Amino acid sequence: MKSDTTQKDRRAPEEVSLKPGLYLVPTPIGNLRDLTFRALDVLAGADLVVCEDTRVTGKLLKAFGLKKSMRVYNDHATEKDRNAIVKIIEEGESVALVSDAGTPLISDPGYKLVRQIIKEGHEITALPGANALLPALQLSGLPCDAFTFVGFLPARSGPRKAILEKWAGQAGTLICYETGPRLEESLKDIRKVLGDRPMAIARELTKLYEEVRRGRVSTLLETVETDGAPKGEIVLIIGENKGEEIPNDTIEGQLKEALKTLSVRDAAEMVSVATGKPKKAIYMLALKLSGKA
Ligand code: SAM
Repeated sequence: MKSDTTQKDRRAPEEVSLKPGLYLVPTPIGNLRDLTFRALDVLAGADLVVCEDTRVTGKLLKAFGLKKSMRVYNDHATEKDRNAIVKIIEEGESVALVSDAGTPLISDPGYKLVRQIIKEGHEITALPGANALLPALQLSGLPCDAFTFVGFLPARSGPRKAILEKWAGQAGTLICYETGPRLEESLKDIRKVLGDRPMAIARELTKLYEEVRRGRVSTLLETVETDGAPKGEIVLIIGENKGEEIPNDTIEGQLKEALKTLSVRDAAEMVSVATGKPKKAIYMLALKLSGKA
């Protein structure tokens, strides 16, 4: 058997020789350990890291012991910025494109740059990795076989309803990115345009307070109206209206889920707040479900 010293240290970046070109590198959406080994190799090996914000990416690189040249490419980038990056590649350099979090180009900058690199025939590749939409879909309890990612819903109700109308007849599950402050109004529009569908709200994925609420639109809207909008980053997963049963849509289902990790008292408290139902009745039900009544 080989001794440990002859084995490669899989945690350290492997030295890779990168051809000149553009490398699309996903970064974690909350949990630093979601950076892949290959992403680390490419970040370590690239001549230049192009990012939305050098402070955010600088922190990530520092966490992995990397010190790199960085250049900003964000939503305000112009043709001049793209030409400058293309020129760097033409001069023989390898460029890693990252966004603040998750997969570049997915509701993040990079689309026009990628088109230009393809058009001009330079080397380009995309590394698979962290994003918010797929874990949210997987955790939603809704069908994952066919789905449509609609990106961010518009901030104002008129355009938002127009987009929802556009997707209303779409087969399969819909996925939208959303922010806490807009959630209540968005849920109202979703109910108005799409009906009281089964859905899930996935929040703070991969982070300490990761949470997925599942239910009909109106049940979830009620919890937001009672508790206020959940904090943090949010993905909405909306199912088709096929009258399917929703896992954990009932108070009993929510309590059973909560009792897996919380005490009877804390589980009852959480479900009472989430559903707006009286604490005492929920507590009695939690006692019964945990076999303590
Ligand atoms: N490029 C990213 C990706 O691959 O998912 C998305 C960037 S977009 C600017 C930011 C939005 O993604 C947030 O408003 C939220 O809807 C979603 N998001 C990002 N991180 C998330 C997380 N940890 N939990 C839930 N949603 C998240």
